[in-house]
Formats: sequence, C-alpha cells, structure tokens
Amino acid sequence: MRKIDLSNFQVASSETARDINRRIVLNLIRGHQPISRADLARHSGLQRSTVSIITEQLIAEKWVTEGAIGHVPRGRRPRFLHLNKERVGIIGIDLRPAVTTIALADLDAHFVAQESMPTANDPEQFIADLVPRLGNLMKMRPDISYEGVGVSLPGRVDLASQRLVFAPNLAWRDVDLKTPLEKATGLPVELENAANACALAETWFGSHTQGVSNLIAITVSEGIGDGLILNHELVRGSTGAAGEFGHTTIVEDGLECRCGNRGCWEMYASNSAAIRYYAQSISPARNAKLEKSMLLSFDDVLRLAEQNDPKAVRAIDQMAHYLGVGIALLVTGLAPDVIVVSGEVTRLWNQVGPIINETVKARCFTHAATRIVPTDPATLPRLRGTIALVLQKHFWAPSVA
Ligand SMILES: [Zn+2]
Repeated sequence: MRKIDLSNFQVASSETARDINRRIVLNLIRGHQPISRADLARHSGLQRSTVSIITEQLIAEKWVTEGAIGHVPRGRRPRFLHLNKERVGIIGIDLRPAVTTIALADLDAHFVAQESMPTANDPEQFIADLVPRLGNLMKMRPDISYEGVGVSLPGRVDLASQRLVFAPNLAWRDVDLKTPLEKATGLPVELENAANACALAETWFGSHTQGVSNLIAITVSEGIGDGLILNHELVRGSTGAAGEFGHTTIVEDGLECRCGNRGCWEMYASNSAAIRYYAQSISPARNAKLEKSMLLSFDDVLRLAEQNDPKAVRAIDQMAHYLGVGIALLVTGLAPDVIVVSGEVTRLWNQVGPIINETVKARCFTHAATRIVPTDPATLPRLRGTIALVLQKHFWAPSVA
C-alpha cells in the first residue's frame, strides 16, 4: 500500500491501463519465453484481442519477435513470442575512479562487446575520451536498435538537476554527464549511483531475489555504497542522496574522510581501509614505508591473503569485522530480506563471510532473518545494473498515483 501523493498524481485513463497491461505482457514474455498469444492471455487474464494489439505494438517497436511455430493437437499452430535479444541493445558505462568500463548488452544483460579505459581526473577530459569510444561501439553493430545508455557512478545524482553532486572518491563536483552523452549518442541517458545500480541488477537478474521485496546492495570498493530497495521500490530520499551509510560515523572522532566527516564507515571497511591496515602492519617505521604502501593495490592485499600471508589475512579480517559492524546497523534498522555484497573482497567470502555474520549476530537482537550473500564478480553487477536502469523504464510498474 502506498499513500496517494496529491502533489504528483495521474488519474487512471485508458492510456494508463494500456501502459500497465503492456508492462505486464512484456514481463510475462520475459518470464515465460517462448510463449504463445493464447498462453499470454491465459497468464494475464486479458482478452485475446487485447493481447494481440499489445504484442503487435511490441513487435513493431522491436521489443518482441516471433519465433518458431508451435505444435498443438488441432487448430491453427501458434507462433511463439520472445524478447528480441539480437535486435535491441543497451549501452552500459561503469565509471570508477581509476577505470571506466563500457559495454554493449542485449535484453538479458549478456555483454556482446566490452572495453575499458582509464578514468581521466578531469570530467571534461573524461567525456572527450568516452564519446569516440561510444561512437565506435555503436558503429560496430549498426543493425541494433539502441534503447539507451545507463551509467553507474561512484557518487549520487541529484534528482532534480540530474547532475553528479556527491562523489568524494572521484573528487568531481556538480558535473553534468547526461547532456553531453545524450548529445553524442542521440539516446536517453540514465544515471545512477553504483550501489543503486547493483540493487537493481540483483532485483532484475539476480539469483537471490525470489520472493524478495526488501533488498540492500552494498558495493565495497574504494569507498562503500548502499542501494536500498524497500517494498520493491528504490529508496532515493529527498534529493537522491539516500543510502550513504558509507558516510555515517561509526567511530567517534575517527579518521578524517574525503567527504569532510570523521569516522565514516567506509574509512574502516572499504578496500582502501584494508590497504591501510596491511601497510601499517608491515611497517614498524610507519612513516617511511607508508609512502611505499600507496603503491599497493587492494588486489595485492587480496592476493597475499589468498596465499595465507598472515598480515594480509589480518588486514582482510579487520576489514570484514568493520563490514559486519555497518551491516549490523542495516539489519537492525531496516530488517531487509537479503543483503548482497559486491566487490573484489567477495573473492575471499570463505574468510570474510563468517566474520561478517558473526559480527552481525553479536549485535542484532531483533531476529531479522536477513540473508547476507556475495554477488558473483563475474556477473559484473555494476555494469548489469546499468542495463537494468534502462530496462526498468519499460518493464517496471509505473507510479501513477
Ligand atoms: Zn565520509
């Protein structure tokens, strides 16, 4: 149940009903493909004639295609419908502080092309680097009908201005990515915070979402992001900044964070924190060697931990403990069905998972039955999220009232 918003509603017209039915049919095709029109009518409860009108429209718009002819005992043999994967493409961009990945995906979020480029320090330079690559990607597949561009960002997008407004680990302030990218591609561009994108990816393509209406995605990288889906809806807050648990204080008067606050969760539980823990443990003459430690990457620490290097193992343990401390807050405060953790650290889930679970268990007395699971990094959750971002406009329930 949702309260009707009297400042922003749309009365139900026959168009609204058509739009809702269209989305239901599109989702039924996605869920049951290949499927005949007769089965669509049966699953949806819509009249055959209505199903025919909707499917003709979806075929004309290239969302759906007719495939093999089915076999029935008697009567006209039906033609099966399925999503037009080969013809509809979505461009996904995963912007991270060091590297940006660009990909072309089909409607099932299978990536048919993918490349990476270094992320320039300056946003204008970044756009200048990116635009020709997008052009080349689209030229490679001129037969495809492009639906849009989804961008996952290490920061927050202001709901009203659609500008990137909060990206401490990128050190960009108030940047308009949407206008230049729309101009360059001629496609609608959807921007979203990386953690929100991961939450969408999990809801859309994930393996942990059967019967789940409350899900939190936690992205662990240079910083920590959280994407919240509560009652099937992405939580955005008043300006789009909801979910910044990574920048809530867990250590009073703790380390200074790039956001300006002190003692932020991400200062203790991110990849950067693990690098710091490791660097501090290998260096008795701390200051002299800390310089050197800046050359260390999180991948180095992970690799050492995988080889059972005791100091690297301890650094990861410490990071896992603090991940648990923050996750305990989320479990106690929001009692989600599932929390999905993504990031390179999930490679060591056998080590990290039990520490997180123990910490949560020791701190949560509400009996929330929250499952804490890692995402498979091979599924590229941030990038998949960008695909979901573009698809949700067509597949998700509309907010009409
Ligand atoms: Zn912070």
